[in-house]
Amino acid sequence: MSVPPSQELESALSQALARGELELFFQAKADLHNGRVAGAEALLRWRRGGTLAQPAEFIHVAERSGLIVPIGAWVIDTACARLRAWADQGFEETRVAVNVSAQQFHAGDLEAVVAGALTRHGVKPASLELELTESMLMHDPDATTVLLHRLKHLGVKLSLDDFGTGYSCFAYLCRFPIDTLKIDQSFVRDMVTQANTASIVAAIIALAHKLRLHVVAEGVENEAQLGYLRKLGCDEIQGYLFSRPLPEADYLALLAQGKAVPGQAAPENGTRTLLLVDDEPGILASLRRMLRKEGYRILTADSAAEGLALLALEDVQVVISDQRMPGMSGSEFLTRVKDMHPDCVRIILSGQADMASVLDAINNGAVYKFLTKPWDDEQLRDRIREAFRVQAALTSVNLPPP
Ligand code: C2E
Ligand code: MG
Ligand code: MG
Repeated sequence: MSVPPSQELESALSQALARGELELFFQAKADLHNGRVAGAEALLRWRRGGTLAQPAEFIHVAERSGLIVPIGAWVIDTACARLRAWADQGFEETRVAVNVSAQQFHAGDLEAVVAGALTRHGVKPASLELELTESMLMHDPDATTVLLHRLKHLGVKLSLDDFGTGYSCFAYLCRFPIDTLKIDQSFVRDMVTQANTASIVAAIIALAHKLRLHVVAEGVENEAQLGYLRKLGCDEIQGYLFSRPLPEADYLALLAQGKAVPGQAAPENGTRTLLLVDDEPGILASLRRMLRKEGYRILTADSAAEGLALLALEDVQVVISDQRMPGMSGSEFLTRVKDMHPDCVRIILSGQADMASVLDAINNGAVYKFLTKPWDDEQLRDRIREAFRVQAALTSVNLPPP
């Protein structure tokens, strides 16, 4: 009796792991705020004889047989091992996202697998991202919420893959501690030619930003899609236009060469200028370093007076000021900025809370956001991006800024 092809495939796949036939390819995601590589998605490949099998040819077998659980654990471990190796070669900031299957999520002791891999390879948790799908999360929402919070507690990032194709339950978007939505490639494909699809993409991006989520568009294949996504303020793109999934060595070459998204040098909205005001040179230097890759033109001033002088000379969209400075406090400074440069979005970054005057400034509308020192780099970068978005939106309809 001959063995059915699917059984043959299953038995070959069960040996593939032990034989070292599985491999990860890496597809770069590009950050549209600075045009640079933001990280990569790890995509599974199976080197079988002389051919390279794609997930569509074997993932369904892995899922049906349960092999996806050990394979998924291998993917997470390998991604962490590569992150470690790349950090040792000087690529400390890169991130890797891995796909997690429903079985792995519900039965695979995912938390222990992730925690084990992070510790074994000494990887910063925030550099690992788990791509989950909507349908797997809807299966048992209560248990899912608990597990997602536990994963989040480890420090890894969580994203919703193929967003818009599953249940897209908005209530769960608030309840689950998700960081990122990945817009499914089917929307991206039709976005430039179909008005309804364009509206859906615009709405997903706006919704995500309101919920303080990052948005990645998948399957970006041409300049028209890129241009439109850029206009809509999408945070990252992934697709053949920027890079195909690559073997590790080629992905590292792309990182080393500092590949940038086409057209990034001349953003449509012109230059985004950020003014930093702080009397401590060390703070100004570390803010500058932290924002280096964001593509802003950054001006610095060590006093409120110098800040006002720069505002008179330059076209500044966002200003971040320390609260406690000799001469003039941050809240006084920003109150003046509000009157003199109402289009400029104003943020206070304060160490010790001089609450009374800060509250005053917030209540009279001089301050858009109040952030505390020491700051979380990523959170601060997000707040600043948001401030530029708010500024662009308000000036385009000629409303006074918040
Ligand atoms: P996905 O997670 O949505 O991954 C994106 C897929 O889109 C990848 O296909 C990628 O090669 C493809 N892609 C990227 N850019 C473009 C583009 O511009 N145009 C088009 N037409 N396609 C593009 P791939 O590598 O064949 O993977 C297919 C799916 O298999 C993945 O979809 C994911 O669901 C699954 N998969 C891949 N690796 C793993 C894994 O390690 N574990 C699990 N559980 N699933 C995986
Ligand atoms: Mg994915
Ligand atoms: Mg996807």
